[in-house]
Amino acid sequence: MPAAPAIRLHRAVKRYGSITAVAGLNLEVPAGTCVGLLGPNGAGKSTTMRLLTAQAIADEGELEVLGRRLPEDSKAARAQMGVVPQQDNLDEALTVEQNLLVFTHLYRVARAERREAIERALALAKLGERRRSKVDELSGGMRRRLLIARALVHRPRLLLLDEPTVGLDPQVRQELWALIDRLRGEGVTMLMSTHYIEEAARLADSVTIMAEGRAVAAGPPAWLVAEHAGREAVEVYGPAHRLAEVEVDARRRGWPARRTGTSVSILGTERLDGDLPEGERRTANLEDVFVLLTGEEIE
Ligand code: ATP
Repeated sequence: MPAAPAIRLHRAVKRYGSITAVAGLNLEVPAGTCVGLLGPNGAGKSTTMRLLTAQAIADEGELEVLGRRLPEDSKAARAQMGVVPQQDNLDEALTVEQNLLVFTHLYRVARAERREAIERALALAKLGERRRSKVDELSGGMRRRLLIARALVHRPRLLLLDEPTVGLDPQVRQELWALIDRLRGEGVTMLMSTHYIEEAARLADSVTIMAEGRAVAAGPPAWLVAEHAGREAVEVYGPAHRLAEVEVDARRRGWPARRTGTSVSILGTERLDGDLPEGERRTANLEDVFVLLTGEEIE
C-alpha cells in the first residue's frame, strides 16, 4: 500500500473579507517527494503555506499534515515540520551557530543530541567555516542557506519552503537549488512555493499550478508539458501587428497559442494540420503550460 501523503488538502477555502485567497484547493504531497506549488502573484501560495502552519485557519475543507488534522492537531504537526519563511528572520546579533542552537531549543532537540544536530545543519548548508560569524556578516546566499539549515535541526519529516529564492541573484539561486536538490536526494519531503518556472521544473518531482486560489493542473513537469503543450512549438517573432495576426489566425483554427512580450508561440505543433506560420521551432516547456493555464504573460 502506498504511504499516506505527508500533506493532503481537500477543497480548502480561505477567505479574507470579500477576497477568496484559497478557493477549494486540492493538493497532495506524497512522502519522500518534492512538490512545487507554482503560481503567479496573488494565486494563493503564501496563504496555502500559512494554512499548513496554522498561522491561518481554513474556512472550509479538510487539511491533513503528517497524519494530523488541522487546525485541531496543528501543534503536533508543527513539531515534525520545518518551515523556511519567505522573509529572512534570522537573529542578526547572533552567530550562525547560535541561531541554530536557539532552534534546537525551540524544537526540543534532546540536550545530548544538540551538538550533533548543529554540526549536521552546518555541514548541510556548507557553513562550517562560518560558524562563529555573526549573521550580519554573511552574504545573502549564506543567509538563505542558514535559513534552510535552521529549519532542519530537528530532522523534520516535512519541509515547507515559501519562495526560497525570491529576489536573489542567479548565482545565489543556483547555490540554493544545489542545496534543495541535495535534500531531495536524501528523500526529504518538501513543499516549495515559487513563481519561478525554472525552479519548479528543475527541483520538483511534481508541480501543482495554482491560479486564483485553485489547482489548475498537477503532475510531474514533463507530463504537464506533454499533456498541455505537446512536444513542439513554433515561436513567431515580429512587429505587434504580425503577432496579433498570428494569434487571431491560431484562435480561428483552434490552435493552442501563447503570447510573450515579443512573440507568439503555437503549441503542440506536431499534432496540428495546416500551414504553420514561419517561426523558430523549439521544444515545448513548462512556461508554455503556465502561460496557457494561468493566462499570465512572461516578459
Ligand atoms: P505572492 O507570490 O505575491 O505572495 P501568493 O500566490 O502567495 O502571491 P497570497 O499572498 O496567498 O498569494 O494572496 C492571495 C490573495 O489573498 C491576494 O489577493 C491577497 O491580496 C489576499 N490576501 C492574502 N493575505 C491576506 C490578508 N491577510 N488579508 C487580506 N487579503 C489577503
